[in-house]
Amino acid sequence: MALRDQFPILQREVNGYPLVYLDNAATTQKPQVVIDAMNAYYSESNANVHRAVHTLAGEATEGYESCRTKLKQRFNASKAIITSGTTEAINLVAHAWGRANLQKGDAILLTEMEHHSDIVPWQMLAEERGIELRYVPVTQHFTLDMEAFTHALDGAKLVCVVHTSNVLGVRNPLEEIIEASHKVGAKVLIDAAQGVPHSTVDFTAFGADFMAFSAHKMCGPTGIGALLVQPDAFEEMQPFMGGGDMIETVTIEGSTYQTNEHKFEAGTPRIAEAIGWSAALDWMNTFDLDAEHARLIEIAAWVAQELRSMGITVYGRHGEHDAAVVSFLHPTINSEDMAHLLDARGYAVRTGHHCAQPLLTRLGISGTVRASFYIYNTRKEAEGFVQEMKEITEKFA
Ligand code: PMP
Repeated sequence: MALRDQFPILQREVNGYPLVYLDNAATTQKPQVVIDAMNAYYSESNANVHRAVHTLAGEATEGYESCRTKLKQRFNASKAIITSGTTEAINLVAHAWGRANLQKGDAILLTEMEHHSDIVPWQMLAEERGIELRYVPVTQHFTLDMEAFTHALDGAKLVCVVHTSNVLGVRNPLEEIIEASHKVGAKVLIDAAQGVPHSTVDFTAFGADFMAFSAHKMCGPTGIGALLVQPDAFEEMQPFMGGGDMIETVTIEGSTYQTNEHKFEAGTPRIAEAIGWSAALDWMNTFDLDAEHARLIEIAAWVAQELRSMGITVYGRHGEHDAAVVSFLHPTINSEDMAHLLDARGYAVRTGHHCAQPLLTRLGISGTVRASFYIYNTRKEAEGFVQEMKEITEKFA
């Protein structure tokens, strides 16, 4: 079956028009195999994991742990902690590694391109511990100011950087950042929420110490994500949430902890979601992601060029390794009005600050309209979108 036909939601209409879903940077749609895997778990195998010997518990445990195994295989990682998403994964680093390893006067280097989920946890830790936060500026070419990065790196203990911007689609020079950071002894956290849906990463070769991402941006369910950790950084992490499953023994006097990833997965985990993500990870192996990425970035670059030719400001550069995200502002039509006009014809796009207010402040704007493309989007949909934008512009500008 053609890739696109495997997504039941793409058959629906919105306001009497076929749905054209261009809000993929917010969340992607799910193929039937993912929906089926989650339904099958609830209708046939539902049980809690790890602690019982009965058949259903065995099936649930196997399903949950298969997600971890597949994550390790796909990303060549030795440690994969399952979290509720990118946000929890980054907060986990702040609590489990940051609290154990950072002290008053230490510096964390962030960038102005970060999503709020890679800013706010560090602000909270900085306030609690008296840690200095430094921000690498974004240039007018929508890239990180690497000269400023080099200067700000001196004395930093941790560098946190977004793999690919959710607003601009720009992929950062991560290899250079990781190498320079390690030279000064700083650990590196990559927010790969928008990166890994578009490209595969060999985490061991890549060398970042921590990498966070969410299943729902790569055809998996909501409510689940992962934190990949290199073995030495893993040893430096202290448990954050206490409770069932993360312990080895508990007595009135005290507790000892698991030594593997379970140490950071207290309580009943996200079993159905892990089973759904496991199915999504298998499904992602059925096509060539690099080829899809090449197709999508070409579409995005073309859309960006067409919008610019209509007098619309586009934020981003749409290079070979960037994500297929087109953020734009019409000179006279308000973003929300634009999104409503598009929705009236079946086009789903996002407006607002995209949880990246410092970046928008740097760009001198308060929001954009964002059209983001993923593997099931077609050239024909992009052409329809451009045509619709032309009609809106002619009618309302
Ligand atoms: N970082 C980036 C770059 C993102 O795009 C997102 C999701 N918009 C997040 C972090 C947060 O992801 P989640 O809400 O799945 O935790």
